[in-house]
Amino acid sequence: MKICIVTDIEGVAGVVSHADHSFPTGKYYGDSKRLLTGEVNAAVEGLLAEGIEEVLVIDGHGPGAIQFEELHPRALLLHGRPITYRQMVEPMWEYDAVALVGQHARAGVRYGNQNHTMDSANVDWMKLNDRLIGETAIVALIAGARHIPLIFLSGDEAACEEAREDVPGIWTVAVKKGISTNVEIALSAQASREKIREEISGAVRSHREKPVPPLQWPSPYRLEIRWKSTQQADLFEHQWDGERVDDQTVAFSSAEIMDVLFYRNRSGRSDRSECNEVSQRDSPLFRKAAVDLVVR
Ligand SMILES: [Zn+2]
Repeated sequence: MKICIVTDIEGVAGVVSHADHSFPTGKYYGDSKRLLTGEVNAAVEGLLAEGIEEVLVIDGHGPGAIQFEELHPRALLLHGRPITYRQMVEPMWEYDAVALVGQHARAGVRYGNQNHTMDSANVDWMKLNDRLIGETAIVALIAGARHIPLIFLSGDEAACEEAREDVPGIWTVAVKKGISTNVEIALSAQASREKIREEISGAVRSHREKPVPPLQWPSPYRLEIRWKSTQQADLFEHQWDGERVDDQTVAFSSAEIMDVLFYRNRSGRSDRSECNEVSQRDSPLFRKAAVDLVVR
């Protein structure tokens, strides 16, 4: 079995504040990268202990946050910026299962430390088919689009709770509890790593015994994004031909899950040619915004 670990940073024990820890300009960003890499290495060890043959680590946090030289010698690393959605997503589809390390809760969860959805500066919330979703459900649905299950998550308690609600069968482990968006009660770095090592092994054993189903929601799909500013809503409406729902909300609809997660409208849009869509999708502005959105 081959497993892909997708990383984020806000759910790592000790990485507590957006400004100081999770933004590359933060005064503790270097520490955050080491803490993340330590948790990732623990996850790799736990997977190898269960006989997993190959582990790909996808460096998922905004500007990239894995300390290359400190990464486990048996892990492969997908990293580099700028990166497009496709470049980040398609390698994941070559693996048998996906695990999340360092994940946070969706935007608007009070006790979720550094809670946000995709773009902490601009997104108020995202809803898929009228249900609020966060990054955990998004990753699970992307993997599920190719029948691959999300089997494990580590992060704060709120992220774990959200994962268990959104991804039936997932195995979760909390390394901290959010008190607010910039305050946490955390396990030590050492204790967090030990817990992740043990629990991801448990997740693999459990998945072998009773496989976690890939997350697949019934089609058709409608993704609504509520932006914090009308300017972002304007941009998404015009650049991606989104449907303007209200002053701050833009929607994307399609029968295909990957279309809406890539911000492409396919259903009820017969007025627009496939040719236009391709040129729009491949435009530099699209790529830039896709990068901004996927990785913060
Ligand atoms: Zn994130």
